[in-house]
Amino acid sequence: MLLMLATLAGHSSRQQRRLSRESSMGPKKRDARKRKTEDALGEEGECEERRDSRKKKQRENKKYIGAHVGIQGGIWKAVHSCTEMGGSSFALFLGSQRSWKRPALDHTAAAKFREQCSLHEFDPAHILPHGSYLMNCGSPKEDVFEKSQALLVDELSRCSLLGLNLYNFHPGSSLGSITTEQCIDKIAGAINHAHQQTPAVVTVLENMSGQGSTVGGKFSELKSIIDRVGDKTRVGVCLDTCHAFAAGYDLAAEGGVKAMLDEFDLQVGLHYLKAIHLNDSKGKLGCHLDRHEDIGKGHIGISAFRDIVNEPRLDNIPLILETPGRPGFEYAEQIELLYSLCEKN
Ligand SMILES: [Zn+2]
Ligand SMILES: [Zn+2]
Repeated sequence: MLLMLATLAGHSSRQQRRLSRESSMGPKKRDARKRKTEDALGEEGECEERRDSRKKKQRENKKYIGAHVGIQGGIWKAVHSCTEMGGSSFALFLGSQRSWKRPALDHTAAAKFREQCSLHEFDPAHILPHGSYLMNCGSPKEDVFEKSQALLVDELSRCSLLGLNLYNFHPGSSLGSITTEQCIDKIAGAINHAHQQTPAVVTVLENMSGQGSTVGGKFSELKSIIDRVGDKTRVGVCLDTCHAFAAGYDLAAEGGVKAMLDEFDLQVGLHYLKAIHLNDSKGKLGCHLDRHEDIGKGHIGISAFRDIVNEPRLDNIPLILETPGRPGFEYAEQIELLYSLCEKN
């Protein structure tokens, strides 16, 4: 039994389930299954081969492709989920998306998370926590603004405890009752406040699709927020491809990725670019709808993603999937597809 457990430790959970089913079978059935188990071990060898070739591609192309992973059952489990799907970077939430006040992050859980990161050789520069959807740091409603400001401080403190130094969030919305300029002032105010209360973590603004009265659909709005942040070393941008396309940046056109990055460099500055969210779009160009689609299955199309994974200006930053994932084309398959598009080797 001990030997069996030791063997199980080296297998994927799918194979573990298959193998533990076998342990409760009679000898005849077990014999019939033996060949299948041997096939499974062959599969494991293939998996390792695929992992090795992906690592080689990751090194040679300097592309850190991963996905947003869950934290159910413990925040440290996110690390393992990412390695299981073959990712080299990941995003995660820092707590429940339903409540403003959450129990403090458990120190043992945080230590386990840091341990797992070093065990699986994840650099904190490739881990991008995503802020709570409840927050609106540009809210015209004073109570919501104050709760958002407090939550931002809390989330940055959580990042520090987890040994992380990037934190991504949606800038905010004017709800149509204040001007964009006033909303931008509030967002920058909340960021400056949080920087004073917490050490080191970089606040990474996400570009938006321009849906409703959200701020950050235009690169110029992101720049206006950055201009008002006191500590420029602690502010950056994450470009979401679906949001950019929905906001009107034509990634589907030939040379669209390069054109968007040139535009970003001109308006904001490439040194502020800290990450990419890799999402195709269910909506058409300029539709202002935030509706993510699986890679290559939407209106952006596969060639833009080929350009992204071969773009040297996107070296060494996290490239993170937030796609719905259809059966047979989950994160693991989409990561594999994206690595297969890398042209070096
Ligand atoms: Zn987001
Ligand atoms: Zn995103």
